Amino acid sequence: MSGPADLVGFSRGMYSNWLWHRPLQLLVDAGEGLQLALGSSVYAPSVLAVTHGHSDHVLGLPGLVAARRFGKGAQDKPLTIVYPEASRGMRGVRLLLETTYAGVSFPLVWTPIGPGSTVALGKNRQLESFAVEHTPSEPGLGYRVVELRRRLKPEFAGWPQAALEQRARDGHRDDLMEPARHIVFAHSGDAMPVPPDAVRGADLLVHDATFLDAADRREPIHASTSEALGVAREAGVRALVLHHLSIRYDRASALRVLRDQVVASGYTGRVWLLDDGAWANLTATAR
Ligand SMILES: [Zn+2]
Repeated sequence: MSGPADLVGFSRGMYSNWLWHRPLQLLVDAGEGLQLALGSSVYAPSVLAVTHGHSDHVLGLPGLVAARRFGKGAQDKPLTIVYPEASRGMRGVRLLLETTYAGVSFPLVWTPIGPGSTVALGKNRQLESFAVEHTPSEPGLGYRVVELRRRLKPEFAGWPQAALEQRARDGHRDDLMEPARHIVFAHSGDAMPVPPDAVRGADLLVHDATFLDAADRREPIHASTSEALGVAREAGVRALVLHHLSIRYDRASALRVLRDQVVASGYTGRVWLLDDGAWANLTATAR
């Protein structure tokens, strides 16, 4: 079963988590095994956005960086690594790279950021960070990719096409349009449910879904599957990927529970679970 077009990933909480969005040339997190899974695509990513510094999200970074530096390919291609500025795990990974490969220089652009930051991602797109609730000792960030578009101003919405074209020919083309932001992709990282406003209208949201039942949660650091579905519904996102499901759950029964939760949630967009490297389609109509 394949997942959303353009996405490749792996997710096992406490083991390894990463996601590769091919058209955006964007990686989110770098769990172990990443460079092996990317194979010949190892040079494709331009930006790695790290959600937080826990080992299951960053231990694949030294392997990825070494594969790009010593492999056959675009060894000089820069990789921008965006991460929470206070991350202890990322400080450790940088130190590991600098110590293990003393004397080797890597084309890395280390970019520590806080919430509310913006990193350019090609011409009309930008990566934006937002605050999420995770472990205080290892701060987390959510990310969204915003496309900067132009759209017809609302006051012209009812106008016939011919009238709009005439107005444009009369030299008022710029008056017809206004700038608009559109979220093409968003990722919660490991987090409690993110604020729907942070991901509103996204084409695709990847959300933490560690617990099948919020009652299984001991500390407020991960979302439940139903909470993730609730965020998707409230935010009106078009498609949802649940990931990071706890290894405590038997998979066959978890999938049955999840399918019922999707129906009960009232969320009508497409839904998948990414579990290890496998995609399960949970869309309500896919039963
Ligand atoms: Zn994790």
